[in-house]
Amino acid sequence: MPSAPSKLYSDDVSLLVVTLDTNPFFWSTFSVPFSDFLSQVLAFLNSILLLSQLNQLVVIATGCNSCGYVYDSASSKNHVSPTASMPALYSNLLHNLEQFVARDQKLSKPDHDTRGIVPASLLSGSLSMSLCYIQRAFRSGSMHPQPRILCLQGSADGPEQYVAIMNAIFSAQRSTVPIDSCYIGSNNSAFLQQASYITGGIYYKPPQLDGLFQYLSTVFATDLHSRAFLRLPKSVGVDFRASCFCHKQTIDMGYVCSVCLSIFCERHDKCSTCGSVFGQAQKDVTSANSKKRKA
Ligand SMILES: [Zn+2]
Ligand SMILES: [Zn+2]
Repeated sequence: MPSAPSKLYSDDVSLLVVTLDTNPFFWSTFSVPFSDFLSQVLAFLNSILLLSQLNQLVVIATGCNSCGYVYDSASSKNHVSPTASMPALYSNLLHNLEQFVARDQKLSKPDHDTRGIVPASLLSGSLSMSLCYIQRAFRSGSMHPQPRILCLQGSADGPEQYVAIMNAIFSAQRSTVPIDSCYIGSNNSAFLQQASYITGGIYYKPPQLDGLFQYLSTVFATDLHSRAFLRLPKSVGVDFRASCFCHKQTIDMGYVCSVCLSIFCERHDKCSTCGSVFGQAQKDVTSANSKKRKA
C-alpha cells in the first residue's frame, strides 16, 4: 500500500464515515433491540465529535433496499443552536433515520418475507456512498481531515453484492482509506473481514453486546495516527472465499478467466464478462500460427 499523501491538517483529525445497518429483517430476529444498539452507537458518535473540534462525522444508513445519508456534522443545519433541548447529533440523526427507515420499507418487494430468508443489507451501496463522500473531501483542497470508514453491520453477507463490494474495497485501498468493521451478527462476515484486511482497517466482532460502547470507544475511536502506538485487535483468520459471477454463490473452488479474472463455479466455453473464448482460444492461436508459417 503506498503511503498516504501529506496533509496540512494535524494528523489526529478524522473524517469518520459510519455505515449503520438498519435492515429491519435482521433486527426483528436479533437478540438485542435496535434501540439499545443505537443508544450505544450514538454515545460513541458523540465521543468522536468531542475528541476534536475539527473531527467530522458522516452517518449513512444501510437499508435492504436503499442507502441514505442521515447525518453530516459539516452541514450547517447540524450545528448546535443554544436554545435546543437535545444535541443536534441526536435530534437530527434520529429524525432522518426514522424517515429513512420508513422510505426504505416502502421500497420492499412484497415477496420478500414469504421466503423466510433474511435479505442482506445494501453494504455495497453504503460503501460506495462513503467513498464518494471521501473523494469530495479529497478534492476540496489539501486541507482535509484523515478519512476512514466504519461499518456497523449485523446482517449476513449478500453474495450477489460480491463484485460491487470488492470494487469498493479496491477503490478504498487505492485512496488509502481504511475500512474498519464492527460486526455484531452471529457468524463472521467474509466481506467485511476482506475489506478490513485489504485496506488495513480493523475487523472486530464484540463478544458481548451490552458493553458495545466500550468496544467501540476503545477500538474504533482511535485516529489513524494513534493506531501506531496501540495494541489493537489483530485479524485471526480471514475468509477469502469468493462468489461466482454466474450464480452469485460463495464457492470454495472455481474457474477463473485468465483475461479478466472473473470467477465461475462451472466450466464455460466463453467468459460472460469479457467475451474471451476458452476452449477454442488454443486452436485459434495454433491455426493462426500455421497460416503465418504458410505465408
Ligand atoms: Zn455460478
Ligand atoms: Zn473474462
